Amino acid sequence: MNTPTSPVWHPFTQHGLGDPIPLIERGDGARLYAADGRSWIDGISSWWVTTHGHAHPRIMAAIRAQTERLDQLIFAGWTHEPAETLAAELVRITPDPLTRVFFSDSGSTSVEVALKMALGYWFNIGAPRHRVLVLEHSYHGDTIGTMSVGERGVYNRAWQPLLFDVDTIPFPHPGMEQATLDALDAACAASGTGEAAAAFIVEPLILGAGGMLIYPAWVLAEMRSICARHGVLFIADEVMTGWGRTGTRFACDQAGVIPDIVCLSKGLTGGAIPLAVTLCIEPIFAAHVSTDRSKTFYHSSSYTANPIACAAANANLEIWRDEPVQQRIDALGEAQDAHLALLSHDPRVHDPRRLGTIAAFDIAAPDGGYLSNLAPRLIAFYRENGVLLRPLGNTVYVMPPYCTTADDLAQIWTAIAASLD
Ligand SMILES: *Cc1c(COP(=O)(O)O)cnc(C)c1O
Repeated sequence: MNTPTSPVWHPFTQHGLGDPIPLIERGDGARLYAADGRSWIDGISSWWVTTHGHAHPRIMAAIRAQTERLDQLIFAGWTHEPAETLAAELVRITPDPLTRVFFSDSGSTSVEVALKMALGYWFNIGAPRHRVLVLEHSYHGDTIGTMSVGERGVYNRAWQPLLFDVDTIPFPHPGMEQATLDALDAACAASGTGEAAAAFIVEPLILGAGGMLIYPAWVLAEMRSICARHGVLFIADEVMTGWGRTGTRFACDQAGVIPDIVCLSKGLTGGAIPLAVTLCIEPIFAAHVSTDRSKTFYHSSSYTANPIACAAANANLEIWRDEPVQQRIDALGEAQDAHLALLSHDPRVHDPRRLGTIAAFDIAAPDGGYLSNLAPRLIAFYRENGVLLRPLGNTVYVMPPYCTTADDLAQIWTAIAASLD
C-alpha cells in the first residue's frame, strides 16, 4: 500500500475516503503482484489497455531493442523506421479508403485530432461547418474537447461552461433503434442556423464508460449510411473497442462499416506504453495539402510517434500476425458466456450481456442512495478477494487480457458471485 504521506494524486480517486492503494511491483500475463507476495487477477486489463497480457515477452523485447537505437525524435518534418512500418501496416489492415495515419499519445488526444481534422477539412475546403453530433451516454476522454462530445454529468460539472455545444442523438435501446436513426438523420441536415453537421462521433457497437451499453451492428451500419447520405464525416472512436475487444479486430468490421476517421489507442501497443493514432480518408488529408502554409494541420504533441512506443505497436501487430489471437478471443468470449449464464438466473442480475471478450450485467438495486455507494464497496470487496474489477455505478463488467486462464476467469466470477451477497 502506498503511505498516507505519498504525494501522488490519483486519477478518478477520492482520496478523502481513505481507501488503500495497492503498490504493484510486477505484472505477468493476467496477474499483478505486490512486493509482499499478494497478487490480483487483472479483470479489466488495467483499464482496457492490456490485450495480450502484462509484460508480453515480444513487446518487452521490441521496447528493449528500440532503446538501443533511437529513443525520441521530433516528428514535424522528420521520420523514423518504426513509425513508417507501423503506419504502413495500419493502412494495410484497415479498409482501403483509410490512407493516412496521424500519431499522438493517448485516446483523448486521438479524438481531439479527429475533431480537429473533421473541422479542418470543412474549413480548408471553404465550406466551414462546426456542428458535431454525438451519441447519448458516450465517453471519448477527459480533455475539454473530448468532454464536450461525451456524456455530461457529475464527472464534468465543474467545467460545464467551457464545453462546446453538440447535438446529442438518443442511444438505440432495444426497440428504440428507429428513433435513434431518425434523430441522426434530422440532426445531419441543416439546423436552424442553416449549417449542416460537420461530423458524427461514435463508439462502435459498445459504449464503454457509459456502462457497457451494447447496440446492434445493423444500427451502426445504418448510422454510417445516414452520415454518408448527408456528407457528414463519420468518426469511429475505437480506442476501447479496437484490437479484438468486441470479438473482431475492430468493432466496425462486424458492421461492414468504413469510417472517414478512426481513433485507436489502448491496445495499439498491446497496452504496454502510450501511443495513439487517428486514421483518415484521403480527402481529409488532401484538404490540408497546399503550397499555402495556412492550410497546415496545426497539431502536435512532444512525443508524437515516439519510436519506442511505435516499436511496441509493431510488436503488437506481429503478435496479431503470428499468434492465435483470434482463437484466444473467441475462447475467452465463450468462457465469459458460460460464467454469465450461471449468474443470469440470479434475481439481482439484470441485463446480462456480452460482446467479444467483454461481459457485463447490472446489479438491481432499488434505491439510488444505495446505488451511489455500490461501486466503491464492490471495488473494495474485489480488491480484498484478489481480483481487480472496477464496476461502473451498478454495472459490473469483466474485460480481461486474452491470456486469462480458465482458472483465473473462474476466480473472477467466483468473486463476483460472492459480491452479490
Ligand atoms: C479510454 C477511452 C478514451 C480516452 O483514452 P485515454 O488514453 O484515456 O485518453 C477515448 N475514447 C474511448 C472510447 C475510451 O474508452
